[in-house]
Amino acid sequence: MPRKSLKVDDRLHDYILDNTLREPEIARRLREETAGMQGAGMQIGPEQGQFMGLLIELTGAKRTLEVGTFTGYSALMTALHLPEEGQVIACDVSEEWTSVGRRYWAEAGVTGKIDLRIGPGAETLQTLLDQGEAGSFDFAFIDADKSNYGTYYELALKLVRQGGLIAVDNVLWNGAVAEPEIEDDDTRAIRELNAHIHTDERVTMSLLTIGDGLTLARKR
Ligand code: CA
Repeated sequence: MPRKSLKVDDRLHDYILDNTLREPEIARRLREETAGMQGAGMQIGPEQGQFMGLLIELTGAKRTLEVGTFTGYSALMTALHLPEEGQVIACDVSEEWTSVGRRYWAEAGVTGKIDLRIGPGAETLQTLLDQGEAGSFDFAFIDADKSNYGTYYELALKLVRQGGLIAVDNVLWNGAVAEPEIEDDDTRAIRELNAHIHTDERVTMSLLTIGDGLTLARKR
């Protein structure tokens, strides 16, 4: 048994995509349109979108939160796996990026499931708390500006119910977290959150090496 996770080179990654991907055609088109845009690297990979769909079904989620929507791929995949009455509250600062997603959400017939809130994510989450929404979400996906990751995690932990799940994206930051000489603000913020979740007794957690690293934390 290998001690480490298997190193996934391009060939193996292609094998995974060719043999396991079930990407809806509309999601593929959204992903391809985004790939030609500036900031395309912020989009999650299709195998991760598929995994998030599985997580939505596994947790039986009905109400979900997303901090960092970008062009709407993860919100689309979440909405497609939510039940009819399900809802995503999607937070982003950019009208321009999310307007791309809105076109595809409409075409997929999931616009009614996605409540887009434009503005700083921490303010949107705090507003939800002020409105008495603590403990009312089943799932939260954190994938926004890394310098505020700690704030988003703490707010999300208040907003999800006991047994609810938080997924935090980019926790390996293309390997930078393990390179001591890399000391920029984003890398530091991710390292700090990783260390915090590691010892956070309020959650059961695991870091998956899918995509750029995805930490799952289930509220106890
Ligand atoms: Ca990301």
